[in-house]
Amino acid sequence: MMFYRVSTFLVLRLRESPPMQRTSFSLLAFTLLATLPNLFLFADEASPSRQPAQVDPRILAEVHKTFGPDFRVHLTPHYRIVYKASESFVSDVATQLERTYATFHSAFTEAGFTLRPYSKRYVCVLFGDYEDFLDYQREERGKEPQQKGGGYYSGKTNRITFFDEHSREHRKRRPISDKTKNLSKTSHEAAHQLAFNTGIQKRGVLQPLWLGEGLASAFEFVKTDQPFGPATENFGLRMSQLGRMQRMGKLMPLPTLVTISGKDRSQVNLGVAYAQGSAFFRFLFQKRPRELRAYLEILAKQRRGPRSSESLLREFESAMGPIKDLEPEWKVFLRQLRSPAPR
Ligand SMILES: [Zn+2]
Repeated sequence: MMFYRVSTFLVLRLRESPPMQRTSFSLLAFTLLATLPNLFLFADEASPSRQPAQVDPRILAEVHKTFGPDFRVHLTPHYRIVYKASESFVSDVATQLERTYATFHSAFTEAGFTLRPYSKRYVCVLFGDYEDFLDYQREERGKEPQQKGGGYYSGKTNRITFFDEHSREHRKRRPISDKTKNLSKTSHEAAHQLAFNTGIQKRGVLQPLWLGEGLASAFEFVKTDQPFGPATENFGLRMSQLGRMQRMGKLMPLPTLVTISGKDRSQVNLGVAYAQGSAFFRFLFQKRPRELRAYLEILAKQRRGPRSSESLLREFESAMGPIKDLEPEWKVFLRQLRSPAPR
């Protein structure tokens, strides 16, 4: 009996382990495979029609205990999706999570970053209903959720959580479809989670707001059939508002932008911080990758707890040089950014 339990455990653990080696070829192959129907790819583990019997029963019991008996599990090579949502939404998110995983690794590797391997599956929690998402968020975070938020990454649980946009009522007609919004926010939240688990950012250390949100927003897009990420021009919707913000004089001076921490969220115009952060992350990623790497290494070495805005500026300038010297090139970069054409 004991042997059976141990061997079942080992087999299931093995089945859940992502591949150890990831070459460029495997990334490419994997991106192609991830776009195939999930039913075909993971028929033995997580086929929606045969769920949840194919998932490790102990993991499922744990999921039911933590989330409730209505939740199911869908596995992909790098993700465990825990959900109470439609199979089509889960399937779209599953494919997009794997696309983001591949894009994130190739973009940062090509820019000269060394990513730390993560041996477990990332956990993503999905809700088909917006109100259920709000209730869950109240319980997990112990505070009233922001009504505009589309999802979030929790450093405490290391999970990403979001909901199907089809279930949220919109007063105004929106420039992108609910499906595109679902895919784009999948990549935003996945980028947060990947950054904190591959050594790009460090959990528990105070991060400037522009950096975390700029990095995640740089993985948003409006063109679902094209490559995306900080090295591309497939921008998220918020980038289309940047020009208007600039004309209205809303953009922040760089020394202000780089010294706002995540703790100051309530005191700043978040729309501007995210849009400008996204453009600024793209700028440094494309034009100053070496300095950006040095800056992230400096941040990772900082102690836990609050730091002053003077410290944040000092850390930035010790990697990038005087911030005023970046201004001319940054202004040119902003002028050259073309707005996305939503579809
Ligand atoms: Zn975010």
